[in-house]
Amino acid sequence: MSDTRIVAIANQKGGVGKTTTAINLGAAIAEAGHKVAIVDLDPQGNASTGLGIPPELRKLTAYDLLSGEYDLTEALQETPVKNLSIVPSTPDLASADLELSSRANRTQLLRKKLHSKPDLDFILIDCPPALGLLTLNAMVAANSILVPLQAEFYALEGLSQLLMTVREVRQAANPDLRIEGVLLTMSDSRNNLSQQVEADARNTLAGLVYRTVIPRNVRLSEAPSHAMPVLQYDPHSKGSAAYRELAQEFLARQLATA
Ligand code: ADP
Ligand code: MG
Repeated sequence: MSDTRIVAIANQKGGVGKTTTAINLGAAIAEAGHKVAIVDLDPQGNASTGLGIPPELRKLTAYDLLSGEYDLTEALQETPVKNLSIVPSTPDLASADLELSSRANRTQLLRKKLHSKPDLDFILIDCPPALGLLTLNAMVAANSILVPLQAEFYALEGLSQLLMTVREVRQAANPDLRIEGVLLTMSDSRNNLSQQVEADARNTLAGLVYRTVIPRNVRLSEAPSHAMPVLQYDPHSKGSAAYRELAQEFLARQLATA
């Protein structure tokens, strides 16, 4: 086992801020001086695009890593952000579920590759919006999972299903899997429902919920089309401030649980 901390960013719902968090928390931790890699485990490849790796420049991909003989170091590509690298993904990753499902060690494929003592402080896995084989591979490989939660009515319902999967993974394959934290995203302080969901989440999940809340901020949604994290696109935006604050809280929790 290496000392690299592996964090799966997971929620089976799409559009809750997984990729935005992978890119911008990753960039903020890297900015703080840590060596970070993102594994883009979503066939849509949004993290790859958002970090400036267009499809034609994706060499080895998460699909190659899972299905082939390549190791992590070979598959990592540099990004425009210092200290931040990525294993990009391509649409062929969508077929991995089916292709790999007959292998005996099908949920252990990523774990084997990520536990190769890489020279990294953190690996963030950007999971697809499903609880299929890819997300299971991420949960089996990870030390912990970080769950972005969009402040809307059904947010907490989906969470119980996710937590059930975490319990199953603990029993079957990865007894040490922790919940890193629950992150409230796209919050709107003028919206009553948003405030109510936040209050409910803090009541139900107590200390698991990050003090930092990510506000809805248009700069965060614009940054990917400029192929860079918001920290580079608009360093003084509310989105940048929020992800920097999250990075500090995240790093403080690492010390507390080390
Ligand atoms: P997921 O990876 O969970 O599907 P994304 O991170 O791709 O979710 O976010 C979904 C959409 O919402 C994207 O278009 C993204 O740019 C936008 N978005 C995410 N977080 C915010 C935010 N805090 N403020 C504004 N837009 C956001
Ligand atoms: Mg995504």
